[in-house]
Formats: sequence, C-alpha cells, structure tokens
Amino acid sequence: MTTDSVLHPFSVTLRPRFSEFPRCFTSSSSSACLSFPNRPLRYAVLGAGFAGISVAWHLLKDSPKELRLSVDIYDEIGIGGGASGVSGGLLHPYSPKGKLLWHGAECWRESLELLNVAETAAASMEKKGKGDSNESFGNFMVRRRGILRPATNAKTLGLMSDNARNCLASCVVETVDKDGAQSLVPNLCLPLNCAFYFPGAMNVNPKRYLQALFLACQNSAIASLGRKNITLVKKCIDDVLQLEGEYDAVVICLGSKVDFLPGLTGKLPLRTCRGVITHLKLHENARGSYPDSGPSILSDAWLAVQGPRNLHMGSTWEWQSRNYSSDVSAEEASRALDELLPKASVVYPDIEKWEFAGARAGLRAMPPVTSHGSLPLLGCVNQLVGAVGGSCKFWVFAGLGSRGLLYHAWLGKLMAKAVLSCKEEVIPSELTSWKKSRQ
Ligand SMILES: Cc1cc2nc3c(=O)[nH]c(=O)nc-3n(C[C@H](O)[C@H](O)[C@H](O)COP(=O)(O)OP(=O)(O)OC[C@H]3O[C@@H](n4cnc5c(N)ncnc54)[C@H](O)[C@@H]3O)c2cc1C
Repeated sequence: MTTDSVLHPFSVTLRPRFSEFPRCFTSSSSSACLSFPNRPLRYAVLGAGFAGISVAWHLLKDSPKELRLSVDIYDEIGIGGGASGVSGGLLHPYSPKGKLLWHGAECWRESLELLNVAETAAASMEKKGKGDSNESFGNFMVRRRGILRPATNAKTLGLMSDNARNCLASCVVETVDKDGAQSLVPNLCLPLNCAFYFPGAMNVNPKRYLQALFLACQNSAIASLGRKNITLVKKCIDDVLQLEGEYDAVVICLGSKVDFLPGLTGKLPLRTCRGVITHLKLHENARGSYPDSGPSILSDAWLAVQGPRNLHMGSTWEWQSRNYSSDVSAEEASRALDELLPKASVVYPDIEKWEFAGARAGLRAMPPVTSHGSLPLLGCVNQLVGAVGGSCKFWVFAGLGSRGLLYHAWLGKLMAKAVLSCKEEVIPSELTSWKKSRQ
C-alpha cells in the first residue's frame, strides 16, 4: 500500500459515536454528504509559519459551523518563528528563468486572496486603534511596487523572452530595455540591455503578514458565534503521538524541523539549506535614495526594498546546514556581505553606498526537483509516525523550499480540504508521490 489508509473522523459508518445526529450538508468548499459529530472537532496544527497559519485559516474558513471546530496551533517560538518569519517576502509565480511554476495561476490567486484577508484583519485592528505600525523590519505588510529581473545570462535570454510571452494575465511580465528599467530605478545597470518587469509582483513583510493572518483566524472564530475556536500554544512538540488521543487530526507544518519528529526522521526527501539575509540602510545624509515607487530586484542576489533608505539583500545558500538559529554572527554576516554585495552591485552599483544594519537567517526545507519543479510534500503520515488504528490522523505539509509564500495559500487550502474530508485523494498526486518510495 502506498498511501496511509484514511478513516473519516465524523463519518456515520466509521465512527459510530458520531451517528446520533446524522445530517447532510454542503459546505462552501465541498459537496460531500457528511454527518455532523455530537462533540466539537479538535485539530492541532504544528508550526506557525506560512504553512501552519494557512492551514489553520482554511480549516476554520472551510468548515461548517456545525462541526464546532477548534484549532490549536503549536509553535515553540511563536508566529513566524522559523524560516517564514525571516524570509525575503518576495512573491511572484515564476521560476528563475521566468517560467510559470506548477499550478502557478492557482497559487498566485490564492496567495493574493490570503494577503487581502490579512490586510483586512490588520486594517480592522488599526481602526480600533490597536494596530502596531512600529515593527523593527519596516511598517508595511505588502509593498506592491513590482519586481524587476535584469537579464544577466546571455544563454538564457531567449528562453526568458519566450517565457515572458507566456505569462499570466494576472501577473504580466513586461520586457524592458535600459531606458525603461532606469525609469523605474535610476542608475540601474543592465549587462544585456534587457530586464523583465513583473509590475503585479510584490514583497511582503512576513512577520506582520503572519500576525495579521492569525488575527484573521481569530476574527473568523469570533464571527462564528463561539462555534469555532483558535488558540496559539507556545510549546515544543517532540513526539506527535502524544497528541493522538486529544485531537481528531494533527497537521505537521514544522518546516525544516519536521525531520526531528520520531518516525519522520530521514523519511521525508528534504535537504536543508541555510540562507542569510542582510539588512542595509542608506545614511540620511547620503544622496541617491531608492525611489519610493521603485520595484524590488531579482538578480544573482536579490534586493527586497523596504523603503527609500531601507532594504534587505539576500540570500546565501548553505546546503546541508543544521544551524536552525535566526541569529547571525558577525563573521557569518561578513561572509554573506562579501558574497552578496558584488552580485547585487552588478545591476545596482549604488548599493555600495548602503551600510550594513543587521542580518538574520533561516533554514529552508528543500524538496527534490521533479519534472514539475521542486514541489512541496503533502500527505497523510499515519503509518510513518506509527499511529495504529484510532481516528486521529496525522498529516504533513512540508518542503516549501524557497517559494513558501507562493505555495502556502493554495496548498494550505488543499491540505485543509483533505483533513476535513479525510481524503488524501483531494491532494494532487504530484504532491503525495514522495510517499511511494517511503513506505
Ligand atoms: C533566507 C531565506 C529567504 C527566503 N525568501 C523567500 C522569499 O522571498 N519568498 C518566498 O516565497 N519564500 C522565501 N523563503 C522560503 C520560505 O521562507 C519558506 O518556504 C517557508 O518559510 C516555509 O514555511 P513553513 O511554514 O513550512 O516553515 P517555517 O516557517 O520554518 O515554520 C515552522 C514553524 O514550526 C515551529 N517549530 C519547529 N519545530 C517545532 C516543534 N518541535 N514544536 C513546535 N514548533 C516547532 C518553528 O518555530 C516555526 O515557526 C526564504 C527562506 C529563507 C531561509
């Protein structure tokens, strides 16, 4: 058997104790005919990064009130405590060569939807005078100024131009020459006199975004008149089987630390890769601040612009690292600067005038490259974690690689759908095929 057997936690036939109030419903996301349980359903989501908060949101949003669902999110650090909280926040649906990624249209659409949800929640908080606009990493949540990718490799220029012609209507790719690029960012250098401009792309302040999305989860629970509930529990989970009796399902969204869980160690085809991001500032007396409307830049090093005198430059790629700390030593920061500055200055020479203002790091969980690209790993993992019988179901959502922002929303929605319906089949087989070689 290649997939875990999946029992429905609130099906009449499989769970006799839920058979007292059989009823059919059609939820907003599913047309399945289901009976409601006579007790609230309890789900645990492990990890409060892009994956975990997205799953929690969709579990709450896509479940009927009658289920009286409650979701506990466990995180040893807190919201955005792992790679998500430190990520560059760059969001667009294309590969480095400008090709639309696997299911890029759905991923892009759902990511925009979640950003809107988070922004609406944050705005409602600010209206009530409770907003926090004084975050250390900038005070925006979504910076919608586009992304510019100067062509730097003559060999791939033709391919990138072809890909640009096949772009999404909802995230167009414009080909611009030096004059066009410099009208966006003065003093930009285009080694091949060509750049690809994604005007609809954006960069996100990941911590603020996640905090706002969690707030949206709380608001959604409140709006259900007490029939849904969400709690954030600051706790390290070192064995998922401890949660078996307590929850109807446990969704494991632990990023690169998924490998520490007994039963899953060495079972997921993931490689770790540490990335350092440096924070640069332009002194207030220095000339040549970044244009307020200027796009972020993707090149051999990227620049995620935070404001006219404030940007993040990333990122390094240290494969097989086991360093999970977001702290960066002076020595590691200096190495990162030595590596990134020359790359960034090829296209944006003015970067040499900017001053180092700090650094942070995260560990990516990189999935294998498949014919569809590097796809996250999803699926039911009862057998892997050693769960026998019972109704509690263990699910994993991992391997978001370097594109967590793009993948988290649509795949979080699919994950929630699979958990709520207890049907692994609702997840595209490309995302569950990793299990075939593991069981
Ligand atoms: C330097 C860098 C730059 C990046 N830039 C971008 C970018 O610009 N755009 C983009 O789309 N992606 C980017 N990424 C990738 C993106 O950050 C990841 O794909 C994404 O964060 C993965 O999300 P996750 O929720 O799976 O994992 P994480 O964000 O790592 O979340 C896992 C959570 O689980 C918690 N946790 C771990 N173990 C336990 C435990 N035992 N018990 C309880 N809690 C636990 C952690 O505290 C953490 O909060 C970048 C990554 C790095 C490292």
